[in-house]
Formats: sequence, structure tokens, C-alpha cells
Amino acid sequence: KSGFVAIVGRPNVGKSTLMNQVIGQKIAIMSDKPQTTRNKIHGVYTTEEMQIVFLDTPGIHKPNSKLGDYMVKSAEGALSEVDAVLFLTDVSEELGGGDRYIIEQLKKIKTPVFLVLNKIDKVHPEQLLPVIEKYSKLHSFAEIVPVSALLGNNVTTLLDQIGRYL
Ligand code: GDP
Ligand code: MG
Repeated sequence: KSGFVAIVGRPNVGKSTLMNQVIGQKIAIMSDKPQTTRNKIHGVYTTEEMQIVFLDTPGIHKPNSKLGDYMVKSAEGALSEVDAVLFLTDVSEELGGGDRYIIEQLKKIKTPVFLVLNKIDKVHPEQLLPVIEKYSKLHSFAEIVPVSALLGNNVTTLLDQIGRYL
């Protein structure tokens, strides 16, 4: 099995941390230069069973310029070409305008979108369900996976779930 997965989410939700956790020290390309290319390789995860190429999709954030407008269109195209999209959010923060904006963009594509609720180590387990309910009202997610990218909690489950879409 092999395929392409795009990671989207507003700044600081833990995209780079998740990649570090998945790829570990072997990571080759992980520059954090924002919005330089349409689809930048974040990292490649390889096991005997599967290979997943993770892509960073710039331009999904709210545009503040004409160029931004173009970036959003381009991001839409990029997200249509992958096997799955991971929409990362920070469960320790309120669902805000930044998240809502990205969800609106994700509604335009047919690609399965995972809701990845990151930073579960920062909240009590009983706080998860209300968050899931809030997000579920806004979009029909293919999968909902709570993780701690920092501690590595549930990251293997996430990878297994991705495998089902490749
Ligand atoms: P990005 O902007 O989406 O790439 O976010 P980063 O990966 O740079 O993470 C932003 C901050 O959140 C950093 O200080 C990380 O250490 C922290 N962070 C990321 N994932 C987690 C997590 O699962 N738990 C906690 N407590 N902090 C996290
Ligand atoms: Mg980053």
C-alpha cells in the first residue's frame, strides 16, 4: 500500500510535531519555510506494509492578499490529488475562526478528511466528546482520531487508519 496524505491546520496545532513523531529522526525534508511551493514533502513514512508520503499544503489559511486568493485555489487543487487529508486541531483551544475557515475549504473537496484532535495530553478525557460534537456539526469527517503528537499517543492508530484509505 502507498499513497499521499496532506496535513492541514492552522499554525501551532502540531503539524511539525506530528511529522517528527511519525518520521522520527530519519526525516529528510522538513524545512519550515511557509508558502513557498504548492505541495512540499513533509516526510515519508515507510514500513514493510505501507508507504505514506506526507505533504504540507500551504495556502489553506485565510488569504490576506491577491496572492493569498490564488494560494487558496491552488491548495484546493492540491488537496484533491491526495488520498486523504489530515485536518489537525488543538483540542486544548476553542474551535475558532481559523479552524472554521479551513473546514469551509475542506468542504469543497471530495477527498476523505480525518479530524485529528491533537494535544489530548493537555485536556481531561471527558472534555473530548463535546469537542468532537462541535466539529462534527461543521463537517462530516471520514475518521476522527485523538492523538498527542508530542507524546506519541494514538499515533500508531492514526497510521493504521490512514492505511485503510490507501
Ligand atoms: P505547527 O505550526 O502546526 O507545525 O505546530 P508545531 O508542531 O510547531 O507545534 C506547536 C507547539 O505545540 C510546539 O510548542 C509543540 O511542542 C506543541 N505541541 C505539538 N503537539 C503537541 C501535543 O500533542 N501536546 C502538547 N502538549 N504540545 C504539543
Ligand atoms: Mg510547522
